[in-house]
Amino acid sequence: MPELVFFSGTMDCGKSTLALQIEHNRSARGLEGMIFARDDRAGAGKLSSRLGLVTEAIEVADELDFYAHLVDHLSQGGRADYVIVDEAQFLAPEQIDQLARVVDDLGLDVFAFGITTDFRTKLFPGSQRLVELADRIEVLQVEALCWCGARATHNARTVGGHMVVEGAQVVVGDVNQAPDEVGYEVLCRRHHRRRMTAAAAHASALSPDVLPLDGDTVGTLERS
Ligand SMILES: [Zn+2]
Repeated sequence: MPELVFFSGTMDCGKSTLALQIEHNRSARGLEGMIFARDDRAGAGKLSSRLGLVTEAIEVADELDFYAHLVDHLSQGGRADYVIVDEAQFLAPEQIDQLARVVDDLGLDVFAFGITTDFRTKLFPGSQRLVELADRIEVLQVEALCWCGARATHNARTVGGHMVVEGAQVVVGDVNQAPDEVGYEVLCRRHHRRRMTAAAAHASALSPDVLPLDGDTVGTLERS
């Protein structure tokens, strides 16, 4: 039975690497995939991983109708045995419905890869729809780690090295970004709640004036 599978995880947990691995395994068996990506770090029309692998992909536009695109392709004699969609959190909910229809009406496996929640810990609309519709959800086993060594379960957005909790849901950036730019860092929930990035932890450890928990102890009490 064809399936809609949602591979979910934080940033930096190896989603794109797994997408490329699935693509490799299936093309090695003579299958042909249709690969979609959006806002990839390697540029438009690419699907890349931090480990340096890259493949060509179709850049997903806001108005792309996945189902119509696949039907067009197949009716013109094109081939597609399965579909891979990276950065699926950026898709509109309607586009996730189209992917479900590709599975049900065209009989193709669809593998969608995405981050579940944004930097405010809220579900991305595309990820929410995937949770609602997917036949199967796989939480990736390649676990990203917080600076403290705990399992990183949340994405933090940083601006100039400081964690922020307000702003537009989608701002393209990456981990290991230069200072002053929008960047992202994966944290455990404890440190996400305390807004303690690696840089903040380092700074507070170095400063004799600031106790490590100063300030966020108040935040913890307010939330309890
Ligand atoms: Zn931590």
